[in-house]
Amino acid sequence: MNDYDVIIIGAGCGGLSSGALLSNQGRKVLVIEQSEQVGGCCSTFEKQGYKIDIGASIIEFPQVIDLCFKRMGTSFYDEVDLIPVDPTFSAILHDGSKITYPISLEETRKQIEKISPKDAKGWEEYSKKIQGFLDAALEGFFVSPAGNLTDVIKLFAKTPALLKYNRLFFSSYEGIMRKYFKNEKILESFSFHSFYAGLPPALLPGHFAMLPYAEHAGIYYSKGGMIGIPRGLQKCGERSNMEVRLNTLVKKILIKNKRVKGVMLDDGTEITTNLVISNINAKKMYFEMVGEEHLPWLAKLGLRSYAYSIASPMLYLCLDYEPPLTEHHTLMTRPMDKTNDYWNSHYLKGSFPKEQFGILSWTTKSDPSLAPEGHHIIAVTLAPGAYHLTGTTWDKEKPVLKEKIIHYLADTHLPGLKDHVVLSELSTPVDFEKRLRSPEGAIYALRQDLPHSMMFRPSAKSRHIKGLYLVGASTHPGGGVPTVIASGMIVADLIEKYEQ
Ligand SMILES: Cc1cc2nc3c(=O)[nH]c(=O)nc-3n(C[C@H](O)[C@H](O)[C@H](O)COP(=O)(O)OP(=O)(O)OC[C@H]3O[C@@H](n4cnc5c(N)ncnc54)[C@H](O)[C@@H]3O)c2cc1C
Repeated sequence: MNDYDVIIIGAGCGGLSSGALLSNQGRKVLVIEQSEQVGGCCSTFEKQGYKIDIGASIIEFPQVIDLCFKRMGTSFYDEVDLIPVDPTFSAILHDGSKITYPISLEETRKQIEKISPKDAKGWEEYSKKIQGFLDAALEGFFVSPAGNLTDVIKLFAKTPALLKYNRLFFSSYEGIMRKYFKNEKILESFSFHSFYAGLPPALLPGHFAMLPYAEHAGIYYSKGGMIGIPRGLQKCGERSNMEVRLNTLVKKILIKNKRVKGVMLDDGTEITTNLVISNINAKKMYFEMVGEEHLPWLAKLGLRSYAYSIASPMLYLCLDYEPPLTEHHTLMTRPMDKTNDYWNSHYLKGSFPKEQFGILSWTTKSDPSLAPEGHHIIAVTLAPGAYHLTGTTWDKEKPVLKEKIIHYLADTHLPGLKDHVVLSELSTPVDFEKRLRSPEGAIYALRQDLPHSMMFRPSAKSRHIKGLYLVGASTHPGGGVPTVIASGMIVADLIEKYEQ
């Protein structure tokens, strides 16, 4: 008799969604989390009365998340107190001009028309194309396994409409955007979105061109901080007796004759089960928790070839004034070719840009209760930062860099900032690695280009170890709160099918 039917390593949104679904199916589930709270990248910590989001700052595709809650007889909107965010974002372009895109497609068209009537037409065509793709993707791509060629063939057979959009997969994000938009300002306003999936516009696969459009289906913030979303999943799981154990580190997955037998904790305690779901970085999990001795040589070769995704330095600012911003999300952008150039000139060389770009997430705009009265919080997602810096280290650079960024923001987007910072914290890729044990501070686990997509990404059902499953950003459909929750549904379906 095993201690649990299923043990899940990590209480990220992926781990919790799979745990909640499986406990709803009547299985005895234990979720083990090394940190003091649930949510991983989609979490919120408290400091001196401020509630600060660690990473994720809004959710798109609420319909995907709702599907998961619906499977448990409830709804996303009933379980999580959601605040609609409208406009989707403002972009402050490198020349200082600003474009704001409301949720309404028509109002957005009008904004684009003011700058380029030709691109307003492009917006209509782009919207039509991407809506068609999303309709098909929501039925198949997001919620079906893609662990091998057979899965992928089945996925396309289930939703043949996806085939019509195959060119999206073989083009780049930039290629698709340039097809519909000609004006450099409009293109610039959509340039940073490619980093939502972790690559510059020229290198990101074209299906991610859905990102700027998808926001128009509605984006939300969770009252009390983004941790409300994983807590909603936790609550649903606990109703059917799912257990969550915090501050507990899993060290090893116990394996005998290529079959999962349990897990070993940091203190040596062993907990038995026949089913383990890993919600942590797949490369780390296979090499450090499973161990090379249990992997065939070809698997080792494949796993070694995976590249970690980008890391993203974050600057958390707690302020005693209302910042001169207008939206929840303000994007500090650069022209598309300069965004591409940043990748080669800075990211790959391990250096910092002089001009900062990224996202200013003014969370207290949507939920003032996150800070003491009259105070505000901005989480700044900075341009991707390489984990390995050339000629220096993050720990050495951190204090200087923090001051430099605050000065830069005060001189550009946030006048008056310097006199109003009550609390500031720079979270570097090294800090991120320590906080969430995410190797190299990777924010989407593994890179999200074609060689790391679908059947090329680690399979949700392990090909090498019986009873081992993967959930979260490391497996299809990849990083992002809705997509990792979708992976939770995929894994619950696979376990239902193969593990009776
Ligand atoms: C800076 C940033 C901004 C983002 N912005 C957005 C956004 O606005 N919208 C959006 O949709 N997505 C966003 N994302 C992406 C999204 O947050 C993630 O893709 C998603 O939350 C990852 O979920 P996950 O289930 O894969 O696991 P994770 O969130 O990575 O959680 C894994 C968990 O496993 C735990 N763990 C690790 N090792 C062990 C161990 N040995 N034992 C026990 N527990 C362990 C970790 O502590 C962690 O809690 C952002 C991410 C980052 C980092």
